[in-house]
Amino acid sequence: PLDKDELGRSTWNFLHTMAAYYPEKPSEQDQNDMKNFLRIFSKFYPCSYCAEDFKRDLEVLPPVTENRHALSQWLCQIHNIVNEKVGKPIFDCSKVDERWLTGPKN
Ligand code: FAD
Repeated sequence: PLDKDELGRSTWNFLHTMAAYYPEKPSEQDQNDMKNFLRIFSKFYPCSYCAEDFKRDLEVLPPVTENRHALSQWLCQIHNIVNEKVGKPIFDCSKVDERWLTGPKN
């Protein structure tokens, strides 16, 4: 059965990892594909009220697809909008690569 929190964690895991491995120099096609992916994703996200809000969030803060860093930072901001709404702590976006790409520095 659908567990909203489990679904959310899995989805953020996927989205942040996808952004972490997005190209450094995406083609026009890559950029359009990513924008379309996010739009369609928000249409079919299987928590209807989450999806409704997320579609609105995408309009307020449209995806930035210029390169890996920009997309990762944009996604961090969008996730923080959701964090704020649901009362979760705001994540420090300077830590995104450490969390989703490189792992903690020793
Ligand atoms: P999550 O928010 O799932 O985060 C997982 C991990 O990501 C965290 O442990 C942290 O390490 C890292 N992280 C946290 N913030 C950031 C950030 N800004 N940038 C990078 N990494 C970060 N729940 C609702 O109750 N109502 C909603 O309307 C709702 N809408 C959602 C919309 C979308 C598109 C998604 C994907 C999820 C939504 N959720 C919603 C679920 C919610 O966001 C959480 O996933 C869920 O509450 C579980 O929270 P969590 O504490 O496990 O951490």
